[in-house]
Amino acid sequence: MAFDECVEIPSPKKYVADSCERTYRWLVRCRDELERLNALPDTVNPGQQLFGINQGTVFKDLRIEHMEKIAQLDLPGYGIGGLSVGETTEEMYETLDAVLPHAPDNKPRYLMGVGTPENIVEGVWRGVDFFDCVMPARNGRHGKLYTRFGTINIKNEKYTDDESPIDDRCGCPVCRRYSRAYLRHLFKAEEVLALRFGVLHNLWYYNQLTEDIRSALERGEYEKWRSEFYRLREAGDDVR
Ligand SMILES: [Zn+2]
Repeated sequence: MAFDECVEIPSPKKYVADSCERTYRWLVRCRDELERLNALPDTVNPGQQLFGINQGTVFKDLRIEHMEKIAQLDLPGYGIGGLSVGETTEEMYETLDAVLPHAPDNKPRYLMGVGTPENIVEGVWRGVDFFDCVMPARNGRHGKLYTRFGTINIKNEKYTDDESPIDDRCGCPVCRRYSRAYLRHLFKAEEVLALRFGVLHNLWYYNQLTEDIRSALERGEYEKWRSEFYRLREAGDDVR
């Protein structure tokens, strides 16, 4: 990833516009330096790919202008940066709707630092190819666990005698062996194993989610798959 400035939201438009200019200048310097290094005979890890990062907070005109400029550099891929930093979810989706049509459609698009399972489903819907986020691991350590019906807080009283797994369709080692009641006990007793199990299950969930998304896309049934994703979440965990 090229060096960029991730501007806080909200910020004055003049500041954001100047920042986009600076991020663009850094990107050009970054590309030139990478080309110089790649031409040397003893370069470590030659042939690295350089992605440019789109910025502009939630100003659609600045986002589009910046994306069109960096697209002309014909880089191997493009990141959408500076989202999920204080704007509403709706503003994030509107920004993606505005800017993604201006990103090259033959290059990967990377939505940086995002997000919840819903954010990923919506990002893909709008044409994003990949993501990164601390959320599954951090939430796992706090006992906030993902299921196909949404997120549960395993520390809640109601799971004290719940002998079912976190998600009965989940194939992870935790769901195959242990109950919600046992996991809740581990969290309440502050056993480090609780954190490990929470992270393991949540990472498994995200891997499965993206695998399901890929196969739905390959079948050409993403719209149908997305409706089912939301139907289960609206039904909620209590209907199991
Ligand atoms: Zn699991």
